[in-house]
Amino acid sequence: MTISGKPRVRFAPSPTGYLHVGGARTALFNWLYARREGGVFILRVEDTDAERNRPELVEGILASLKWLGLDWDEGPFFQSQRMEMYRAAAQRLLESGHGYYCYCAASSYAGADAAQHEDADAATDHAASGEVKQKRRAACPCRNLTAEERAEKEQQELPKAIRFAAPHTGTTKFEDAVFGSREVENAEIEDFVLLRSNGAPTYQLGVVVDDIDMRITHVMRGADHLSNTPKQALLYRALGAEPPIFAHVPLILGPDRTRLSKRHGATSVESYEVEGFLPEAFRNFLVLLGWSPGDDTEMFDTAALIEKFSLSGVSRTNAVFDRAKLEWFNAQYLQKLPIDALLPYIEKELRRSGLWKEAWASTQKEWFAHTVDLLRPRTRFLKDFSTWGRAFFAEDFEYEAAAKDKFWKDPRLGELLGKLADGYAGLAEWNHDNCEKVLRDLAAAEGLKAGLLINATRVAIVGVAVAPALFETMLALGKDRVVSRLRRALPELPKA
Ligand SMILES: [Zn+2]
Repeated sequence: MTISGKPRVRFAPSPTGYLHVGGARTALFNWLYARREGGVFILRVEDTDAERNRPELVEGILASLKWLGLDWDEGPFFQSQRMEMYRAAAQRLLESGHGYYCYCAASSYAGADAAQHEDADAATDHAASGEVKQKRRAACPCRNLTAEERAEKEQQELPKAIRFAAPHTGTTKFEDAVFGSREVENAEIEDFVLLRSNGAPTYQLGVVVDDIDMRITHVMRGADHLSNTPKQALLYRALGAEPPIFAHVPLILGPDRTRLSKRHGATSVESYEVEGFLPEAFRNFLVLLGWSPGDDTEMFDTAALIEKFSLSGVSRTNAVFDRAKLEWFNAQYLQKLPIDALLPYIEKELRRSGLWKEAWASTQKEWFAHTVDLLRPRTRFLKDFSTWGRAFFAEDFEYEAAAKDKFWKDPRLGELLGKLADGYAGLAEWNHDNCEKVLRDLAAAEGLKAGLLINATRVAIVGVAVAPALFETMLALGKDRVVSRLRRALPELPKA
């Protein structure tokens, strides 16, 4: 196909589940391609499978796409609202001799509705090698009915489907930007169902009618669809259209090299959002599942991704979902995002955990930004800000048991931290050097190592053993909180 004008691509989820990792990756590739080429990204909801559809899931899918920053230019279109168009196309195919009525029971013969799911599973096994293999089954006999036999079936008022009359000779070709030029013997292609006896279109018909109607130029989707593609290429031509350019993207596998599934842990995008991953990090991780920029670069902001993305970088090799790598990306983004880009996520997290104070968005915005900046080098998830970093945002926090055991052992500490609290209470100017001086002077006067006081004080004022540098922490908390937290800890400290 020669493409004139800007590319038009689509993402077409089915609301039979949440947006899963593989679907999100496919959506991302489509979106990037559209943005890279100045094209159009269309969203289409494939909701014609009345039995498996759950309309309530549509909102969640759209929300996950938005969370990932994948905005669409047209749609969402719903196949369930376009049924007349599919029926009309099936009728046209019937009239042009590319289709025929089938009176068989739905699952008895090759290409019937029930066979579709099996075929999709079988295709998965071959997708890695790019092999297109069709399962052979007995053909339905309805194509060759005599006029008399047909009239007899009609008289019985049997439910009837419309099947595609696949050619018996020749080959079908299509272009795949990832797997290359493909060619399949037509004799291998069964007479698949177009319209079920209940009037619902099959996946093949709906997809092709929509892709023609929406003038889709590039079809990017999972490699498990490679086996469907020869049928669709035939259907395009029977409907008087040229097939688009296909780009089948590799599958995503779990660490054990089987297809990613719930056995491997969370597979829905939403669950990663809830867990506290940043969308920037998740998207960066996703894009490298089956695509490479051609060098070792791993971190891409949106502009860089759009600039670098190309179909030639898409691999034929299945990708492996590596959770540790995802966590690494998240820690990287928590540390490297511009602070202004990070703050809204922290706000959301603190709201979620009930710690948020409105002043942090207005009068104390500077304090808030500084504190987040202080904490972020040691965070891996958004929720770390409200758990590990809780004492920076709330008065009620607990002392980590291990931290107490380790740093509150010395029997002199009760007395020492009392003196420290008095020293801090008497400070006229609350700054880094003064805070440090009070502590070091006390250590020197008592003949102690400063480390004993530093560690014990840290546990007293933030409750954890690992935190930002102590005097930075004191500045962030302010004099009143430091003094009161030291005094609050006294009853818990050992006494000589
Ligand atoms: Zn039949």
